[in-house]
Amino acid sequence: MVGISTFTCSRNDIHDCLRCPRIVAFKVQGLKTREVTTPRRYESSLTSYEKGAVGETIAKVAFEKMGAEKVEMKKIDEREILNQLREKLKSLENRLQNVSPETLLLELLRQDLEGMSFITEKLNEVYGSLHILGKGAIKNPFLPALGEPDFVALPSKTRIPVIIEVKNTVRTAASDTFQASFYNSLAEVSGSITLKQHYKDEKMELAPSVLLEPETQTILIYPRLGEFEICSEKTRIDNEIIEKIWKAKQLGLMGKLPYAEKTDSCKRCNYKKFCDTTIYDEIETAKPLPLIFAKGAIETGYDYNAYFLKNYIQEKLQKPGILNKYELEIQKAQLELRIKRQSKTERIQQYSDKLAVEEIKNKEAEWIAEKLNITVAEVKEALQYPKVPDTHKILEDMSAELEPWEKILGAKQIKENTATIFSLTLSINTLPKHSETLTEKAWKKWS
Ligand code: SF4
Repeated sequence: MVGISTFTCSRNDIHDCLRCPRIVAFKVQGLKTREVTTPRRYESSLTSYEKGAVGETIAKVAFEKMGAEKVEMKKIDEREILNQLREKLKSLENRLQNVSPETLLLELLRQDLEGMSFITEKLNEVYGSLHILGKGAIKNPFLPALGEPDFVALPSKTRIPVIIEVKNTVRTAASDTFQASFYNSLAEVSGSITLKQHYKDEKMELAPSVLLEPETQTILIYPRLGEFEICSEKTRIDNEIIEKIWKAKQLGLMGKLPYAEKTDSCKRCNYKKFCDTTIYDEIETAKPLPLIFAKGAIETGYDYNAYFLKNYIQEKLQKPGILNKYELEIQKAQLELRIKRQSKTERIQQYSDKLAVEEIKNKEAEWIAEKLNITVAEVKEALQYPKVPDTHKILEDMSAELEPWEKILGAKQIKENTATIFSLTLSINTLPKHSETLTEKAWKKWS
């Protein structure tokens, strides 16, 4: 069974390839250079994930309060945040021994609030207020890759969205800056930032939006340190490096290695005992599989915008809490309908109840259409849109592009991984609009 790294290109791949493409090949082969250590038991302290969750929550609260004035810690209700955190980190209660979750969370929360108070004051001088728009997804079909930073925010001074990544660590790390520069490039070079439900003018906006190839900055926030870093740098994402990565991966999967020169860094390299630079291989690089599948789907007429819309409506707008007024009415009407069917009430009565369900569904569609600023017909069409493209046709139509991969993985492996590849395609290539443009651009870059 092949791993997810066979289908995508991550920031670690770029980082490794910039050091040496052979490292990418060794890693895809699953070669381990370090001994496996026993995981640490967190019985009386928070894990890095939990510390991260605290930092992210505090940062969000502080940005929400950020205006022209300094964020006053006194005005922030610690209890409210604590409750949010306890809800978010339920497993804490079971894991911790001899120390209460509240003590640990409160200690970190106070430290973070202090840090955020200073950070927001300084950021205010650069950006004005930073209005959190919501969570954003950075989608890039060229690599292909999906980035999920903590927030996307809109500064009042520049009005150009910025990415925010919170690191609740006790020291800054070079890898954080690399992550920030990767996000910047991932969005800008044949990429996009998609915002699902987000805030606009203080209100929750339900219509999703997308920014194509935006020039952006990433702000790294360190609440515990009371520090931040504005990163405008870019990671190198061009045809040469991306092709090099894919060549290394594909050779690695075949148990081979790409050409690499012996350099001074070889002496410090963890792979040196496995590495003989006089032995190497060459292949014609194949395009990434998710991109081949995405292009194939477009050729069959599959509409990724419609897929996004269908999924979005089902996941975000038809979930309990948002539409529950309509959901409850539909459920009630359906229940009544079933009871009446069981009791064999007259057909005419059932017919009229069916109409009631239809009527409520229509109301629901009207509500969704209004919120998304589209027509009722578009909502209904999206909800009936097929969940997956015609896989058989795509495999058939794209057989020439898939041929090199058949030599690398074998046709059986490709077939077995079709569902995984499609699910990646559907997360990376679908946008609220312009999905096709982005995929076609990526395809062109590879051609
Ligand atoms: S030993 Fe040298 S050539 Fe081999 S993987 Fe390491 S850096 Fe690359």
